[in-house]
Amino acid sequence: MSANEQYILEHFYEALEKKHIKAFFQPIIRTLTGSVCCAEALARWEDPNHGLLSPADFIPVLEAHDLIYRLDMAILEQTCAMYRALADTQTFLHSFSVNFSRLDFAKPSFYEDVVHIVDAYQAPHEAIKIEVTESVMLADEARFHEIFRAFHGAGFSVWVDDFGSGYSSLGLLQAYNFDLIKIDMIFMRDFTVRSRRLVASIVNMAKELDILTLIEGVETEEQLRFVRSIGCEAIQGFYYAKPLNSRDFTAFLAEGRIEPLKEKEYWNNIGHFNLLSPNPLEEGRVDSAMQSDIPLALIECTWGRGDYIFANDAYLANIHALGFDSIQALEHYFNDKISLRFNPMKNMLTEAVLKGSVQEFDYVLGDIFYTFRARCIAKSKELNKAMVVATLNTFRESIRQQERTDLRQYTQALYASYEHVNLVFPDRNASIRVFSKANFQTAHQLMGLRDGIQSFAIKEVHPDDRARYLRFFDVDTLGDRLAETGFIQQGFRVHDMEGNYVWRQIRITKVPSVVEEVYLYTIQAMSDVSMKIAEMLVKEHPELLE
Ligand code: C2E
Ligand code: MG
Ligand code: MG
Repeated sequence: MSANEQYILEHFYEALEKKHIKAFFQPIIRTLTGSVCCAEALARWEDPNHGLLSPADFIPVLEAHDLIYRLDMAILEQTCAMYRALADTQTFLHSFSVNFSRLDFAKPSFYEDVVHIVDAYQAPHEAIKIEVTESVMLADEARFHEIFRAFHGAGFSVWVDDFGSGYSSLGLLQAYNFDLIKIDMIFMRDFTVRSRRLVASIVNMAKELDILTLIEGVETEEQLRFVRSIGCEAIQGFYYAKPLNSRDFTAFLAEGRIEPLKEKEYWNNIGHFNLLSPNPLEEGRVDSAMQSDIPLALIECTWGRGDYIFANDAYLANIHALGFDSIQALEHYFNDKISLRFNPMKNMLTEAVLKGSVQEFDYVLGDIFYTFRARCIAKSKELNKAMVVATLNTFRESIRQQERTDLRQYTQALYASYEHVNLVFPDRNASIRVFSKANFQTAHQLMGLRDGIQSFAIKEVHPDDRARYLRFFDVDTLGDRLAETGFIQQGFRVHDMEGNYVWRQIRITKVPSVVEEVYLYTIQAMSDVSMKIAEMLVKEHPELLE
């Protein structure tokens, strides 16, 4: 039997007094980190006769009889008590949100009463978020404005609850400066393409207006992934936790990670960044249409390390094109390969953090141009870290076409001075033939790098030069041998077009690559004099050839 209206009215004051009405707390999670960054206070009535009553049972009754104000103040007080109880413990939480009925705004002492309670518990105003549902707020605009201004002026944040469920959502954004919108859970409930598009548009719009976003009602992994992909920075829902009584709530906090107060501003700044913007690196706001095809990532920079916090699908696709299986593999190259003395990408990130302006860097791998751009969107001296938003574009066709055509002409002229040019990738056990006018068997090329070298030595190199060639081209020691000079070169007799052995200059040069060890392998003709010298050396001083 559920409690009827009369029962609620008769027992409300008693329930308040006996603390049957309690604040439960539902954790709010920072999307990018998974840390608890806030909790919402939700009223519960634990009735001795009827068991647990939910807000839907008693709030409409209390509103109809002008009692809701008492409830809201009681819940605010319990919330401040919770803030205080946690304040000096290991499970300190810096923010709580509390629901207020629109009717509260009509009470002349509303603002003063809130401040009085919060101050009584010595909770900073910044810790309390005022949640108001969007319904009917437009009715008395002047009054709402007055109270909003007072709350804002005193350091409180004002959040709009159940955004998108009412009739005047957009009008509200026009009329008031909210700090955050809580997007109604109806959009998660029917998780259709249409509702996903709506949510993405709302988040996009909020970001363009400098308003933070939170999505309510996240229950599944799939919904979580979606919320991440559109850059909504906070989540509330059963996927993480239900509203919990004080004991369970404290236990929940003790188990997980809580966002430290000193990180709050940093993550809020990042929260303002719009992942859906078509010009994500532009400062200021731009007219944006909905799209997220730009390969975009958030990279956290700490002490010269770069850690990916987020990468969208387009970015991941480009990472794959670069030869990395995963973000982790890229991070490993980026952070742990000390052998890479030359790392422009890393320098660029540092520049982006130091200068605050957009940094850009182009490079070429295979036949693909990459443009890596970065801008710092938040940094904290105290935390010693900074967040950089990065785009990674590839240009096979389009914009760089003309540049590439020109470049190809010049490189063709350059190649013409070589018999054969290969790019060698020891880590991938692969090589790419860039250019060849020699007549070597293609089989070597198809075998993988190490087998290919063996095969080439046997099939193409003069028997007397073979052992020396294999020592020369030992890929596992190349790094060390080239460390100082950057290249090595020796003369060898290899097959020419007709299958005769002729002297050739073979050179291996280290390519200053961003992400992996790469070498340029070239075969070039020798002058007559050089040939004679090589001939003589082989006969009389072979040791000098090593
Ligand atoms: P709300 O402020 O939008 O609170 C969120 C509601 O969604 C809560 O219901 C919560 O239990 C529920 N919820 C959270 N995550 C999920 C989820 O993943 N899936 C589903 N299906 N539900 C989820 P609750 O506690 O029943 O509160 C209902 C409404 O009652 C609240 O909606 C709020 O408008 C109102 N309310 C609650 N406490 C108070 C209060 O102290 N004062 C006032 N004025 N209103 C309150
Ligand atoms: Mg709420
Ligand atoms: Mg809500």
